[in-house]
Order: sequence, then structure tokens, then C-alpha cells
Amino acid sequence: TDFGYERVPTTEKAKRVGQVFHSVAQRYDVMNDLMSMGIHRVWKRFTIEVAAARPGWKILDLAGGTGDLAARFSRIVGPKGHVVLCDINASMLECGRARLVDEGLVENLNYVQGNAECLPYPDDYFDLITIAFGLRNVTDKNKALSSMLRVLKPGGKLLVLEFSQPTSKGFSQIYDLYSFKALPMMGKLVANDAGSYRYLAESIRMHPDQETLKQMMETAGFERCDYHNLTGGVVALHKGYKL
Ligand code: SAM
Repeated sequence: TDFGYERVPTTEKAKRVGQVFHSVAQRYDVMNDLMSMGIHRVWKRFTIEVAAARPGWKILDLAGGTGDLAARFSRIVGPKGHVVLCDINASMLECGRARLVDEGLVENLNYVQGNAECLPYPDDYFDLITIAFGLRNVTDKNKALSSMLRVLKPGGKLLVLEFSQPTSKGFSQIYDLYSFKALPMMGKLVANDAGSYRYLAESIRMHPDQETLKQMMETAGFERCDYHNLTGGVVALHKGYKL
């Protein structure tokens, strides 16, 4: 990497994640809308509100994919600010770049192919880091959280938007049915790719629940950690500060 940090060996999981996102990149935005019934837009809008970004900020949108959050941040931070869209996957990054350029967003944006586990930035660099639906794909989450803490400025904030654990049992059963039956079926019909969408459902179930992720953030060294459940806990937004 640019700053000479250690390289992470490619694991089986990393390979799988690479294949999945390479194969869904072109259809990613359409599938997102379809499978979440548009609700991912509400989750992201909430994230932008909590972020409370200011003009001039330096923001890292990690695992930024096709750039939903980066686009909004680019408009907020203005010409004196700076937004980095970082993703490990070249196909996702390329789709993100094409889309943001189409929207006329060019001046304050940068595209970096990088791994969340070893961020290619100096210490105390960003005012804000967001990672939306990305952390569950990262192989070593603790290492990634430590890396994020390192590159945040003191006083800086991390927001993790991720699938989590539904809080009610009844709802949880409906959600299981939806994600293990309906999602792979939609994946098959629309994208002829049931496998990628089965990976999606499985990775969601394996991901740490609200309290566990909060604990992991605290262990990594984040302070004043907290979370907010969205859509009955299907998704949670975790927040933590570097103090
Ligand atoms: N943030 C975008 C959004 O909310 O629409 C994209 C989320 S997409 C589900 C997950 C992204 O995480 C993919 O683009 C994938 O390439 C990226 N990713 C997976 N592992 C990563 C890693 N170790 N470091 C950085 N990005 C990673």
C-alpha cells in the first residue's frame, strides 16, 4: 500500500467476497432497491443525519461500493472538504466512480482500492468514517476496527451501518423466510445468481448482534459507543468516537 502498511493474506472468505461483489457490481443498485424494497435509502438517510458532517471535513466512506453515502458527503463537505470512496473491489469501485462522475461530483472525491484491515492512511487523518453494509464482509473485523480508529482524528466519529438482529421473535421468523427463501429466488430470477444472494443471507446471520458489535468497538478503543435499531433491528447504526 501507499504508506507501507502490512499486507493481509488472501483468505478463502476474502476470495468469496471478491467473487460475489465482482459478479453483482453492475446490478448492485437495482438489486439493493428491489431486495430492501427501497428501505436501504431510509437507512442511509438516517446515517447521513447522524453523521452531521460539516463543510471542510475529511470523510472516509469505507467499503463504499457504488457510492450512495460518498455522493451525499461530497455535496455536504464542499470544495474545501474531501471524501474518499474506498473499496477492496475494483468492479464496485469502478461502478461507483462512473456513477458519481455522471452526477457531476468530481472535485472533492477520491477513489481508493483498499482493504479495511490495513487502511493506507496516516494516523489521525479523517473527521468521520462510515462503513455501510461492509463490515460483515471483512475477514478480520477487529483488525479493521483498529485500523479505522488509527486513521480517525481525535474527536472523530465512526458510523457502522450493518444488518443486525431483529428484536422481536415473530418478526425474526418472517425475516428468516424472506431472506433464505425470497432473496435467493429473486437473485436467481433477476440476476441469475442465487449463490451470491445466498451468501448475503448467510453473512447477515453470522454477523455479530447489536451488543456484540458495540463490545467489539469498545475493545478496539472507541469511546461513547452506542447504537440505534432500524426496521425492528434488521439493521443497526453503531456510533463510536476516538477521544
Ligand atoms: N457501502 C455500499 C452501500 O451501502 O451500498 C456498498 C456495500 S456492499 C454490500 C459491501 C462492499 O464492501 C462491497 O463493495 C465490497 O467490495 C466491500 N468490501 C468487502 N470487504 C472489504 C474490505 N476488507 N475492505 C474494504 N471493502 C470491502
